[in-house]
Amino acid sequence: MHKIIDGKAVAAELLGTVAVDTAALTAAGWQQKLVAIVVGDSAPVALYVRNQRRAANRCGIDFEERTFAGDCSIDEILAAITAMNADPRVTGIIVQRPLPQHLSIRRLQSAVHPLKDVEGMHPASIGDIVYNDVRLGPCTAMASVELLRRTKLNLSGLEVTVIGHSEIVGKPIAFLLMAEGATVTVCHHMTRDLSIHSRRSDAVFVAVGKPNLVTGDMIKPGAAVIDIGINQITDEKGDVRVVGDADFDSCEKVAGWITPVPGGVGPVTVAMLMRNAVVAASRQKEHYESKFAQTAQIKS
Ligand code: NAD
Repeated sequence: MHKIIDGKAVAAELLGTVAVDTAALTAAGWQQKLVAIVVGDSAPVALYVRNQRRAANRCGIDFEERTFAGDCSIDEILAAITAMNADPRVTGIIVQRPLPQHLSIRRLQSAVHPLKDVEGMHPASIGDIVYNDVRLGPCTAMASVELLRRTKLNLSGLEVTVIGHSEIVGKPIAFLLMAEGATVTVCHHMTRDLSIHSRRSDAVFVAVGKPNLVTGDMIKPGAAVIDIGINQITDEKGDVRVVGDADFDSCEKVAGWITPVPGGVGPVTVAMLMRNAVVAASRQKEHYESKFAQTAQIKS
C-alpha cells in the first residue's frame, strides 16, 4: 500500500521546467547568475555548493562561489552583498549556512535585496507567505510542501502536524500549508505529547534533527510522512549513514506515502532554489522594464 515519494524524480521534473524558463529569460537578454557566499571551510557547505552548482549548470544558470576567510568581519560580507545588490549581472544571492558563530545569518539575509533573495529568507519574503503570496518561499519548506502535493491529497481541510518550528523550515511549512487551506498543528521541543497530534493527522512533517523521533506507532495508517531531518549516524555495523528524523522501516509499514532520506526533500530543496532563481530574475526583469517605461514616459 505504501508509496515512497522519489525526491530525485520530482527534482528532475522541476529542473526541466526551470531550464525552459531560463532559456526564455536568456533569449530576452536576462542571463541569470547566482552568487554563493561561502565563509570559512565547512564540509557540509562544500557539498551544498557542489549540488547547487550542478543544478544551476543543468538549467543554464551561471553560478559563482565567493569565498571569505572564516574570521572575516560582517562588514566585509555586507559590503560585498551591497555591491552584488547593485550589480545587474547578479540575479540571485545565496548565503551558505552554517556560518561561523560571530556572524549573524539574519543580518546577512536581511541585507540581500528582496528581488535577489533566491533563498526566500529575507523578512519581506517571509512576510509575503504570511499574506498567502507563496511564489518565493524558503526552499526547504517549499520543497516539503511540493512533496506532499505529489500525493494528490486534497490539501484543503487536510489535518497536518508539523514537528519542529524553526524559522527556516517548520514555521514557513505551517504558513505554506495554511495558504493551501490545511488545518495545521505545530509541535516543538515543549510539546507535551507528539503522538497525540501526529496520530490524528493525515500528513506529518518532521524537521527536528533527531533520528527515530517519529516511529510507525505515531502515524495514522495511510497518512503521508514528509521527513526533512538530516542526521549522520553510525549504525550497528559501524558504517556512517545519513538518516532522517522518522524511523523509516516502522513508518513505511503504516504510512500511505513517505519521503526517503537521502533522496527525498534534499534534492527538491536544490530544485526549489533554482525555481526561486527564475522567479527572482523574472521580477527583476519586470522591475527594470517598468522603470524604463516610466523614464521613457517622463522624457516624451
Ligand atoms: P533547528 O535546530 O533550528 O530547529 C529544531 C526544531 O525542532 C525546533 O523547533 C525545536 O523546538 C524542535 N525540537 C527539538 N527537539 C524536539 C523534540 N524532542 N520534539 C519535538 N520537537 C523538537 O533545526 P532546523 O534548521 O529546522 O533543521 C531541522 C532538521 O532539518 C535538521 O536535521 C536539519 O539538518 C534538517 N534540514 C534539512 C534541510 C533539507 O534541505 N533537507 C534543510 C534544512 C534543515
